[in-house]
This record gives sequence, C-alpha cells and structure tokens, in this order.
Amino acid sequence: MDELRGWLAEREVQGLRRTLPAVEARGDGRIRVGGRDYLDVSGNDYLGLCTYPQLVAAAQAATARYGTGAGAARLLGGGCELHRHLEQALARFKHQEMALLFNSGYQANCGIISALLQPGDAVFADRLAHASLLDGVRLCGARLFRFRHNDATQLDELLQRERAKFRRALIVTESVFSMDGDCAPLRDLAALKQQHAAWLLVDEAHATGIFGATGAGKAEEAGVADSVDLLMGTCSKALGSAGGYVAASASFINTLINSARSFIFSTALPPAVVAASLAALDVIRDEPQRRTHLQALAVRLRQGLAAQGITATGDTQIVPVILGSEQRALAIAQRLRVDGIWVLPIRYPTVPHGSARLRLSLSAAHQAADIDRLAERVAAACAAVPA
Ligand SMILES: *Cc1c(COP(=O)(O)O)cnc(C)c1O
Repeated sequence: MDELRGWLAEREVQGLRRTLPAVEARGDGRIRVGGRDYLDVSGNDYLGLCTYPQLVAAAQAATARYGTGAGAARLLGGGCELHRHLEQALARFKHQEMALLFNSGYQANCGIISALLQPGDAVFADRLAHASLLDGVRLCGARLFRFRHNDATQLDELLQRERAKFRRALIVTESVFSMDGDCAPLRDLAALKQQHAAWLLVDEAHATGIFGATGAGKAEEAGVADSVDLLMGTCSKALGSAGGYVAASASFINTLINSARSFIFSTALPPAVVAASLAALDVIRDEPQRRTHLQALAVRLRQGLAAQGITATGDTQIVPVILGSEQRALAIAQRLRVDGIWVLPIRYPTVPHGSARLRLSLSAAHQAADIDRLAERVAAACAAVPA
C-alpha cells in the first residue's frame, strides 16, 4: 500500500496524477460540473447527438420493446434483430460487405488485431496510433514496427527491409488522429499495402460522421474505401452512442466472429445503445448540415487563434494547442475553467512528454460566438502562463 501511495505522490509532483471530474450533466456543447455550467470543448460528441431527441426516443422505444440487457454474448443468442440491422447499416455506410459490432472501440481494436495476427507476423503502426491498437499488438505477440507520424516514405522503407521476414503484415493507422487533429495519407498507405502484400486497418473513430460525401469518413473522402481491409470505428463519438465496429469483407468478418476474443467472451450491447446508433446513422444521412457547420467552426477557431499568434496543429474538428510542460498545460486549463471553459489538459502518457496540450474538440452544438470567445480566452490564458 505504501508503494502505491508513493507512486501516486510522485505522479502528483510531476503534474501527472489524474482524478475523475464529478460531472453532473452534459450535452449540447455544455457541461455542468460542481453546480456550474461550462462551454464543453473536452468531449467527442462531435455532432451533438448524445442528447438529440431522435436518438433518445429510439433508445427508449428499444428498451420498452426488448428490455434493458442483451441477455448473453452474440454467439450464445444474445442481442436482438437491432444488432443485425445495425451491422447491415454499418456495412452499407462504410461501403463494405459486412460489419461486426464490438462493445467498444477499444475492444474492437484489441479483438481484431489479436485475432488476425500471432508471433511470426508483423504490425507496422503509425507512431501516434491509439493505445487500443497497440494493446491489440501486445496481446497477439506479433512484432511491432512504428513509423514516424504520417510518414509513408519511412513506412515504405520499413516494409522493404522487414516485410519478407514475416508471414502476415498489417499496416495500422488512425484516419483522423485523436490527439493531433491531423489526417493520415490514406492513398499512400493504400498503395503501400498493395505493393507489399500487407493488410491495412484504418481506425476512423474521429472521422466517422464528419468527413466524406455521406459522412462515412476519411476513407470515403479519399476514395480508398475499397482498398482498406479493415475499416474500424466507434459509435461512441460522432454517433453519440456506444459500441465499436469493424466493416470488412465477409472472410474477415466471419474469421473475427470465430476468433476475436473480445467479441466472443462479452455480452452483447444493450438494445437501447444499438437503437441509438441506428438513429444516429439516419441523422448523419438526413442532416449533412451538422458536419458542414462543425467543419466551419473548426476553420473559424484556427483562424481566431492564428490572429492572436497561436498555431493549432491539424485541420479537423480536433484543435490541439501544444503547450509543452505538464505544469503549463494544467495551469492554462485551470485558467480557462475559471473563464467557464471546460477543457482538460492532455498529458503523458496519452501524448509524449513535453508535448502536453489543450485538445479543443468542437461540436456541431457550438455556435460561432462560442468559438470566438474560446479563441480569445485561450490566447489570454496562454499569454498569462508563459512557457
Ligand atoms: C476513442 C477511440 C477508440 C476507442 O473507442 P471507444 O468506443 O471509446 O472504446 C479507438 N480508437 C481511437 C482512435 C479512439 O479515439
């Protein structure tokens, strides 16, 4: 016990100790904590769907009809027709033959990678790929190679040097990077996977619902949906619900049904959650103005920050302002909180040491006036706490 207390005390001194915020309510781009309302730029409810009446009504109706729990794991008859409908809808949305639901995006990534690879295989992952992808690699014992962020040239070199030594090879990337708000060179990666006989897994957690002609994501936007083997995503972000999934060919999906342990050994998602995801897909199809409004807000924020001398990285609805030390990020986030803006400093181990940041994530529920005030207050807080 003393050992654990010592470890926690050390984290505290380093500005790395994390605690759970006591959130009372959230939705519509706002959050209530400790009796106070804040502008919420910390969440991933990008389209403002978490509290949208259409999703809430769908979840309520599904609960009334099918009950609260799914009863069992899918292979043991758990879930209901809604699960099948959602998988069919996701497959169509993602331009793939089939799709499979997992209980979270985290479980999807761990399950997919560990089911398809084993020792003797290799994974080539972008250096900034999400923890769930790297945990999948750890689980299966494949050899891990990491290439410089978004550097297809280095990936090509690595593949030329290493590919032949391994049986299967899997290239892994996010399409929109969760902590950097920038985008992978999907066309280059698709070409490399062909050249080197590798599979390509693209995690579209932060792109689904936002990019592409129908909102299917960056693979759709780049016109490479056909050459991505495994299009992974989650219903927990822009879809305002919960549950991970992968869309792929029937051979991949049927293999996963038979071997992905995080799918096999976990009770199916509750009907309410699945119904909300289905309703979200309808909203994404019927209300494209939500994603265009969100993208316009992101441009407005980047311009507003730039006008005050602050450069944000990336070019999506995730707008990171890199601040350097853990302590500086904490102090700036604290100031913003006093100003009524809820943003959590992102620190090691989520991002590398020395690149602590504010991750300003926008929602279609925000208004232009919110964004202007945000840019102004972020600039003031950064000026007040010099590097
Ligand atoms: C959030 C996230 C996940 C995990 O999805 P959950 O449904 O929240 O478990 C996976 N990959 C990326 C890139 C993410 O940002």
